[in-house]
Amino acid sequence: MESEIYIHIPFCLKKCKYCAFNSIVGTDALIESYVNALCTEINSQSSDLDVKTIYIGGGTPTLLSIAHIKKIFETIGNKFNLKHCLEVTMEANPGTVNEKYFYELRQLGVNRISLGVQSFDDELLKLIGRIHNRSEAIASVNNAKKLFNNVSIDLMYGLPSQTLDNLKDSIDMAASLDVEHVSIYGLEIEEGTEFFKLHSQNKLNLPTEDEAVEMYDYIVDRLPKCGWWRYEISNFAKSGFESQHNLGYWSDVKYIGFGAGAHSYDGFRRKSNVKSVSEYINGIINGRDVSLLEEEITTQAAMEEFCFLALRTVDGININKFKQKFGVDIKIIFGNAINKLKRQNLIDITNDRIKLTDYGMKFGNIAFAEFLI
Ligand code: SF4
Repeated sequence: MESEIYIHIPFCLKKCKYCAFNSIVGTDALIESYVNALCTEINSQSSDLDVKTIYIGGGTPTLLSIAHIKKIFETIGNKFNLKHCLEVTMEANPGTVNEKYFYELRQLGVNRISLGVQSFDDELLKLIGRIHNRSEAIASVNNAKKLFNNVSIDLMYGLPSQTLDNLKDSIDMAASLDVEHVSIYGLEIEEGTEFFKLHSQNKLNLPTEDEAVEMYDYIVDRLPKCGWWRYEISNFAKSGFESQHNLGYWSDVKYIGFGAGAHSYDGFRRKSNVKSVSEYINGIINGRDVSLLEEEITTQAAMEEFCFLALRTVDGININKFKQKFGVDIKIIFGNAINKLKRQNLIDITNDRIKLTDYGMKFGNIAFAEFLI
């Protein structure tokens, strides 16, 4: 079975103020037993996977020693078929990596680095709780570029106190560093984060809605002029450097996740592991099932997901593929939604595709909601 692999490493040096990911701090002592548990979980899977991509995300995966990463890769390599594996991505945080570390990752088969930069502005980085500063971010990108020909960075907009000029400077910096890929996300205030608390106390100086829209408009205009084409709502790449792993998520490819809170999808069922790191480790050690949730996906849910995930990409929904998969014409199921979104100029329909217009990309959530039956 063709599949993607995701490995979750939940450890961080410090919790960023906006972060709602499954990550914990101050638990480095657990890393060794966590890696052992990961390897046990990998070994417990049936071995018939033909792996297309591997993505090690977090958290901060680069807190692991090279010996730990080697152990994880060896376990994957001994268990699954990696002959067709095209892309091996490792998320890295500036401030936790140096050239030697990148060199050793390269030796282990990593061929893509995704750096969590977020901004090149020192004040902003401090304000959002990142551990690195501008010069460390630049040094990390430069070190990665020496060894990898596929380097991505994450940037953010709509941050407290961020101005359009801050954002322009970060994008210009990314362009001068000549990275192959940029993911750029608007800040979302999520429950359980430091920013959520500050926001509810009116202590967060967020850009106004107009200012955030101005930033968005700048991004979608400027990034393509810097050589990165927009292939998904929040993702821009030089041609040929689109993230194969993430494209899989949006195009109904099966994936299997290992680690605390990791999700898996086999085309019919979804599964997620317990989020708690200690529960995960203890569960694996004691031979317990660490699934938190395992559910069959109803045909209706599968149709909805197929559509709103595909709509995120510039390729949009493949009408023929929908019919092949579900045995019914998409217009029979979603005719009303399609007509409404077309009237609102949120989607375009060409031969075999339904795609968001530029205007639709801006208001993607409205379009996605229409595909919920
Ligand atoms: S480094 Fe990433 S995962 Fe860790 S706290 Fe910050 S945003 Fe969250």
